[in-house]
Order: sequence, then structure tokens, then C-alpha cells
Amino acid sequence: MIIDGKKVPNGEVIQADLCIIGGGVAGIGMALQFIDSGLDVCLLEGGDFEPNPRTQELANGDNLGEPYYRLDHARPRYFGGGSNLWAGWCRPLDAIDFEKRDWIPYSGWPISREDLASSYVKAQQLCEVADKSFDALDWSYAMPDLYQVPYVNDSIQSTVWVGSTPTKFGKRYRHALADASNLRVYMNSNVTELVTDAPGGKITRSRVATLNHNRYEVQAKVFVLLPGAIEAARILLASKQGERQGIGNQHDVVGRYFMEHPHVVTAKIHLYNRKQSNRAVIPALDYRFIKGAKARLNLERPIDGVKFAYTIREQTQREKQLLNYSAHLRTVAPSRNSAGYRSLKLIVANMRSMKSFLRQVKNGGIPDGLGTQLKNLVLNPDDVFRVLYGQVFSRPKILELYCQSESVPNPDSRVMISDQLDELGVPRAVLDWRLSLLDKVSIRESQKIIGELLKQSGIGELVTEPWVMDDDAEWDRSLIGGYHHMGTARMGLNPKESVVDENCKVHSVSNLYVTSTSAFPTCGYANPLLTGLALTLRTADHIKELLTLDLELKHQQPAEVLPS
Ligand SMILES: Cc1cc2nc3c(=O)[nH]c(=O)nc-3n(C[C@H](O)[C@H](O)[C@H](O)COP(=O)(O)OP(=O)(O)OC[C@H]3O[C@@H](n4cnc5c(N)ncnc54)[C@H](O)[C@@H]3O)c2cc1C
Repeated sequence: MIIDGKKVPNGEVIQADLCIIGGGVAGIGMALQFIDSGLDVCLLEGGDFEPNPRTQELANGDNLGEPYYRLDHARPRYFGGGSNLWAGWCRPLDAIDFEKRDWIPYSGWPISREDLASSYVKAQQLCEVADKSFDALDWSYAMPDLYQVPYVNDSIQSTVWVGSTPTKFGKRYRHALADASNLRVYMNSNVTELVTDAPGGKITRSRVATLNHNRYEVQAKVFVLLPGAIEAARILLASKQGERQGIGNQHDVVGRYFMEHPHVVTAKIHLYNRKQSNRAVIPALDYRFIKGAKARLNLERPIDGVKFAYTIREQTQREKQLLNYSAHLRTVAPSRNSAGYRSLKLIVANMRSMKSFLRQVKNGGIPDGLGTQLKNLVLNPDDVFRVLYGQVFSRPKILELYCQSESVPNPDSRVMISDQLDELGVPRAVLDWRLSLLDKVSIRESQKIIGELLKQSGIGELVTEPWVMDDDAEWDRSLIGGYHHMGTARMGLNPKESVVDENCKVHSVSNLYVTSTSAFPTCGYANPLLTGLALTLRTADHIKELLTLDLELKHQQPAEVLPS
């Protein structure tokens, strides 16, 4: 059943077995697991079915650290959450990502890749990529030559990402949730605070506010906090009633260890010409006529909606003490930064298919609107010509390495709350995203391995960007994240370094779970949605078992298995 929170009577107290906070990827994924479970489940979603500027404004906040997207632009606050705008790239984490690696501070998950195996299968089904393989060899027919032997070796491999349609969870699963007799989905219902009992060990209710000044509460046996990693930290920190530092924050860990995948160009590869190369020029870059365009399409938009990158094999990561790392090869655009060039780049970058392009335009994914960008093209024909000549008709002379790397868990990289309040009276989020020297050193060493191979194979000379070579230099201004918010309520066995345990239950609270990407202790290089969803589905199994047992015992005798 779907209910508009704005119509819930002011002051109402709603009862449920399970209260899920956030109707994004993880919240919807979790709710689906409880259909026909016999348990009474309520899901609280802050937004509506379509975006609304007033609700979106609640996600606004400050950025203090590395350059980042505006926080209200980075977090779609309506039913379906991030899946409303996601690019659809799916890839699970590697087994090594879960391990404690001595050279990476704070690494090690309390579970292994194997513990997530069955949940990954279910997550793939929900993302509608169940039939797609993550083994790059199965995609050899689509793989550009540069990612194949002899351009990979014992140290470097090629890796594949598969593309979801992309599945918009809100639209795709709305009716399944609406039709379920044991589920109530409350829309326009923003959780402002979690309230604990006097000792602080149990959540008694969540406070909810709507933008028409309605306030109500939900009481439940178990609460799961899934509003995205920045918002989860914000709600825990803002819930000060039980504990001065916020819920689950006795050791000042909530909000810390925030991770993003650094996305940035870290090197250029100057391709040898025929005279310099000791082998035939690679076919992928040597087409006739529209050479540049074909090379670009071949490298960056392979057929069948997959994409590839170089990654470093596990053995080499161990030997050289590296973070996990991926690097995409891209053809280099002419080095101009004019309005016409920027508009063309924006349009081409979003042109995955006409359908997805129109959707991006409709969802506001083209900043300043399509009209402005087209006008820039008309007013700057020389830019368009240069791009056509440099990018479409000439064979590429330079490639770049676009890295999407693992990032070291760093306690100083964090989400905090400010003194400023949003319209509902909740302190705003403050993001201080930080990277460490190890991040830079590891990228540098990883690409050195790639550079050696490309040189030996007669492809070209890798030239590292000066700021990557200089330990003290700031990261390049083009550095950005991938809208991948991870790690603010990390999993672990030690409450001094983590917020939730191996089942994603908050250490110090008997009935509160925080999962999805918030709980990642480390982040690998892979985009996070699939793993966040898999982790959530694993937690759903655990909670279902607990609540079902409680229900069965209640029918037999007045006993409780849930810790009080
Ligand atoms: C433009 C873009 C592109 C992306 N591309 C990819 C990609 O290709 N591959 C990939 O793996 N990942 C991608 N991501 C990241 C991915 O979308 C997120 O990792 C994923 O959505 C996280 O899921 P979640 O359920 O934890 O949070 P979300 O999906 O963000 O859901 C949070 C939900 O909680 C609701 N909410 C927030 N605050 C409250 C509150 N106080 N009370 C009640 N409800 C609340 C929100 O409205 C939202 O519905 C992308 C993200 C964006 C924005």
C-alpha cells in the first residue's frame, strides 16, 4: 500500500515490525524481501515519485574537502534514490577487497566475498543483469584490442563492467510494493531523528516530518537506516536525544572514513607512429576515414553495453603493496576549454543512446538545459570544426588513462553536521572528502606497470601528470567522485573503529541496522550499487530470520528473541 505522509494525521503514532528508512535502491531492495513474509513492514521515503525542488533542497549542505558536487545535486531525494540517475554500471567487488591488507590502514571486512555470493546473485536480478558475466574473457568479442593479449600480462588484466538498462528501482518495483498487503510505503515522509530508550541501547521510534508541517512517529521492533551514506551519518549524528554525540557514536566513528572513488586523468600515452613502433599499429586505432571517431567508440563505447579497464592482478597488488585500481583508456580531446567544446563534450558524453539521452535531458542531467548547450555549438562553429577534425577524422595520437581507484579508508575524511538547519529543523550535512598520500602513490605505481607494458608492446610512452609525481602537490582540479558515497557507518568487529557489526547492526543499539554503501569498510574500485544492494539483501535475510522467529515464539508463548 502507498500512503502520502502529508495526509497522515498530525501526531499519529504508527506501529510496525520493521521500519525501513529511505526508499532508494537499498530500501526498495530490502522491502521487496519482506513481501508476504507475514511481517508488518513500513518504508519511509522522504521524497515523492518525481523530483521536487523543495524536498531536494533538504539534501543541501557544505563541501569542505576535495572538490565535490553540490550535495543536493549528488543525492536524488525521491523514490528510487540514486537509481533515478545512475549510469547503470555494475561490477561486484573483488575477493581481495574484503581482505585485511597490512599495507592499507583500516582494511578488512568482517565478511568475505563468499559470504556475499548468494546476495550478489539476487542483487544482479534486481538490477536486471542476472544473465551477464563479470568475466572479461566472456566479452572478448566486444573487447578493444588494447585490452587484450599482448597488451595484458601477468601483472595487468582487463576487467569488465556490465550495464543495467539502467533499472530505475522506483519505477520498476513501485507496483510490487504497492500491491503487497503487508507493506506500507509512506511517501513525502522525512525522518528527522531516531529516538532511543533511556539507556540508549534501543531505538523506540523514528520522528517523521513532511513539508506541509505534519509530524508523526513510527514505532517498530527493528529499524533499518538506508537514506544513503551521507544522510545516514547526518541522521545518526543529529539524533542527540540519547547520546550527546549521536546514536552509535560512542567512539566518534559515525561519519568518518567517508570514501569516494577518485575519478581523474593521471597520465597520457603518446602513441608511437609507424616508424617508432616495433609492431603493426594497433587495429583499434588505425581505421580509415573516420579514424578518431571509430577509435573513440571502440575504446569508450564497446558494443553490448559493457565497458573495460585495465586493473592490476591480485598477486602484483600484494607484491607491490598497492590499492585496488582501474584505469580506462580514452582518446584525448583537443585541449580547449571553450563553451562550444564543453557543450559538445557534454552532449556526446551523455549520448549513450537516444533514449537515455532524452531521459538525461528530462531529468536535468544536462546542466543549464539542452537549449543553452545547442546555442553554444551554433555560436562557436570553429570549436565544432576543431573537435570534428581532431576527434573524428584524425587517428588519435594521444590516449589518456582515466583512473577510478580504490581509496584508503581515512578517519579524517568525514561527514559532519553543521549549525545550520534545513526547513524541517535538521542540521545540514557537511562533507569533508579527503584523500591520502597512499592514494596518490598507489595510483602512480599502478600506472607505472601499465606504462612499462605499453612501451614494451610498441604502443607508446606513458607520461605521468606532474601532480601525480609530486607527493606534496594538490590533486588536479579535474578530480571528482563518481557519486559513490561510502563508509560513514563502517562494518567491523572493533567498535572503536566501526559503527556496525558483521550483520550491519549498530554495535551499541540492539534494534538498529545501517547497511548499503554506508557500511563499506573499504571500497575497491568497482561502482558501489551492486555491492551495497547485496549487503542490504544479506542483512534482510538476517532480520527476517530474527523477526520471524520472534513472531513464531509469540504465537507459542509470550517470549522475545529480540534483545531488549
Ligand atoms: C548520477 C549518478 C550516477 C551513478 N551511477 C552509478 C553507476 O553507474 N553504478 C553504480 O554502482 N552506482 C552509481 N551511482 C551510485 C548509486 O546510485 C548509489 O550507490 C546507490 O543509489 C546507493 O543506494 P542507497 O539505497 O544506499 O541510497 P539512495 O539510492 O541514494 O537512496 C536513498 C533514499 O533515501 C531517501 N531519503 C534520504 N533522506 C531521507 C530521510 N531523511 N528520510 C526518508 N528518506 C530519505 C532518498 O529520497 C532516497 O530515495 C550513481 C549515482 C548518481 C547520483
